Amino acid sequence: MATLPTEPLQITEPLRGRNDTRRNLVGLSRDELKTTLTEAGLEPFRARQVWQWIYWHGITDFGLMTNVAKKTRDRLAELFVIERPQIVTEQRSVDGTRKWLLRFPDGNEAETVNIPEDDRGSVCVSSQVGCTLTCSFCHTGTQALVRNLTPDEIVGQFMVARDSYGEWPTPTETTRMLSNIVMMGMGEPLYNFDNVATALRIVMDEQGIALSRRRITLSTSGIVPMIARVGAELDVNLAVSLHAVSDEVRDTLVPVNRKWPIAELLAACAAYPGARNSRRITFEYVMLKGVNDSDADARELVRLLTPLHAKVNLIPFNAWPGAPYECSSNNRIHRFAEIVNAGGISAPVRTPRGRDILAACGQLKSTSLRDRRTKVSDVEAAAGA
Ligand code: SAH
Ligand code: SF4
Repeated sequence: MATLPTEPLQITEPLRGRNDTRRNLVGLSRDELKTTLTEAGLEPFRARQVWQWIYWHGITDFGLMTNVAKKTRDRLAELFVIERPQIVTEQRSVDGTRKWLLRFPDGNEAETVNIPEDDRGSVCVSSQVGCTLTCSFCHTGTQALVRNLTPDEIVGQFMVARDSYGEWPTPTETTRMLSNIVMMGMGEPLYNFDNVATALRIVMDEQGIALSRRRITLSTSGIVPMIARVGAELDVNLAVSLHAVSDEVRDTLVPVNRKWPIAELLAACAAYPGARNSRRITFEYVMLKGVNDSDADARELVRLLTPLHAKVNLIPFNAWPGAPYECSSNNRIHRFAEIVNAGGISAPVRTPRGRDILAACGQLKSTSLRDRRTKVSDVEAAAGA
């Protein structure tokens, strides 16, 4: 593990030239890959081989596809690439957390984090550049949405993490360090459902990256009409950013609550597959001093969640410059946790990780946006604007 992560590692590779119009094979569904390859004159069975090379072996060079004839490999390399997002920086925290700033071909950027724990590592993946929602405690919410990420950009984030840990070919379930994916980076995954779904299906495919749906958690701010689709089409673990127990408070913290209030949100959760028995839904609850952290709030949380098979993640608020909130005190957070636990609902306090590299919830990508603003104003100042 690295010592102090003073300066980010600069490992930028040059982007391929603008005139290079070869298509990236990463991010195509199995069917799309088959169609794409057959349209290029390859036999349909090649899709299975190429899939395994890309997602099981993690190779990026067609030349290494040893079960594919040389002529076919040359043809593939003429038309296609196997490409990850470009790594602008990789930072390593003293606590083992790693964070990558990634750049996509159009110049947009997003961050991905891996949070290692004793027996697993959760890769926190972004679904959008910025976010259209404006949760008042979230730094991402103050950034303008630039766009949805495409399936290759979403899968590519996990592939970059695997490259960094050398976890190719796909390791066994028991030995892998990168064992989980949490869709908790920038953006609202259910406002980019199709791309997120394509990406997660790729990640879950057993002949490739092979992460089981039990190892994947999708976090939503509460886009109620989409929750049933997550259950029916992906059946991954669901996390819901609840953060308040009354509509009055939640309206201010998570403004999308005005559209889909708490009662509707909890009804959608109750209908989620497995929610009432084996599988627990995680409710995220950010601890904001004097806003949502009273004993009465904790008791109301228990009342609301008791009918569900729920778990609560208490997240100490990660402040950012200009944030209109403060984090609740440690004593308050622990008292709140005690009440919820005593009410029969597990409520661990999430220890902030990667604080030294700004890798915590709601902090992703913010510094680079600020840097860029500085640069723009520097340029304007220099031009006498
Ligand atoms: N948009 C989705 C997923 C990304 S946010 C969602 O809102 O669920 C992942 C988690 O981080 C959410 O629970 C979010 O509310 C929380 N979060 C955002 N900003 C935070 C901050 N400054 N401090 C602590 N948690 C924050
Ligand atoms: Fe978007 Fe989630 Fe941040 Fe809300 S908390 S602004 S939904 S990323």
